[in-house]
Amino acid sequence: MKCGLSLDVRDIDETTINIDPIQVGGRLTADAMKAVIAYGDGYSVCDNCRKPNRLDMIKSPPIDAFHRDLAAFVNMDEARVVPGARRAFQAVAGTYIEKGDPVLLTALSHYTEFLSVEAYGGVPLEIQKSSENIITADAAGEKIDSVKREYGRPPKLLYVDHFDYQFGNEHEVKGIIKVAKQNDIPVLYNGAYTVGIMPVDGRDLGADFVVGSAHKSMASPAPSGVIAVTKERAEEVFRTTKAQADLTKRTFGIKEVEMMGCTLMGVTLVGMMASFPHVRERVKHWDCHLSNGRMIVDALLAIDGTTVKSEYPRKHSLTRIDTTGSFDTVARTHKKRGFFLTSALKEKGIAGTIPGATKVWKFNTYGMTDAQARYTAKAFQDIALQNGLIVLR
Ligand SMILES: *Cc1c(COP(=O)(O)O)cnc(C)c1O
Repeated sequence: MKCGLSLDVRDIDETTINIDPIQVGGRLTADAMKAVIAYGDGYSVCDNCRKPNRLDMIKSPPIDAFHRDLAAFVNMDEARVVPGARRAFQAVAGTYIEKGDPVLLTALSHYTEFLSVEAYGGVPLEIQKSSENIITADAAGEKIDSVKREYGRPPKLLYVDHFDYQFGNEHEVKGIIKVAKQNDIPVLYNGAYTVGIMPVDGRDLGADFVVGSAHKSMASPAPSGVIAVTKERAEEVFRTTKAQADLTKRTFGIKEVEMMGCTLMGVTLVGMMASFPHVRERVKHWDCHLSNGRMIVDALLAIDGTTVKSEYPRKHSLTRIDTTGSFDTVARTHKKRGFFLTSALKEKGIAGTIPGATKVWKFNTYGMTDAQARYTAKAFQDIALQNGLIVLR
């Protein structure tokens, strides 16, 4: 079956158990799929846009109420939808960073955080990770001190990922935010792997900005995301236009500069909205997703020679595993080489790993049913046994 000339139907999430780290939290709910079909046309949410003409004020569909719900969901004062977490970074960076400003990221930060700093001429500086690949409050304090010594002023901004994309490790966000506050540094909490997956309380954490990726973690179409801020920061990041055209003398109402006026005007926004009630509910069941993930990690660790690169016990469903001493020993002599694992998994209906990877690789078990988790755990061990590896316990 084709969608037009060159687009194959994509059915990976219908026909397989997908463990792709970046995809599992973004899969649409059935309600989002319906909304996407109904609102597929461009500017579809603008049917009932009335003065003062801003996306977050549209009452039908109830986009205004959705914005309030989003802010409440992460316990912040105001929220806006954005085309991905990266555009939220960009809005914050654009508001605060001037050329030459030192900005703190971490040794595990995502590339999009670096790009947002670069875009405004900031100097990205990393907080060191510990030998266990954790960003600690102590390390943040040390880096802040060293920046103050070198630049004669504190960093302009600090970005911190609650869980990083490389290991899925939890970092000392609350402690880091506390140290930053003592130095009057505004903090961007990056919840790309938390908002929509587990409960997030931005006020309790003390964050100035809470950023989420809706296409990664809120069962939404790409590109979509959320930025939620405190009242004080809202006036800065969501400042409205002051521009006036020289010839025509036009002004542009209450359009927000960093949002380029309006952001998500169709499928992305209605997809987020339709999934939201499900997302709000599912974060309450994070512990079940976590225990399924732990069971699968333990099943892998029972394969002799396997180790886990992520912190252990696991606190997230995204895990970096090292099978150099197990699956990779099979790959060395297998006629399919490294592809034997991808291919054996595929035969068992499991997809989403990097083709050919048998050394260090990542997977995310989020969203599985208990039965799927048990099946996946057994599938890994069956593949190991079929290839002459030893399964302990
Ligand atoms: C995925 C990811 C991003 C980028 O999110 P987008 O919504 O695609 O812009 C940023 N930071 C981290 C830690 C991520 O994992």
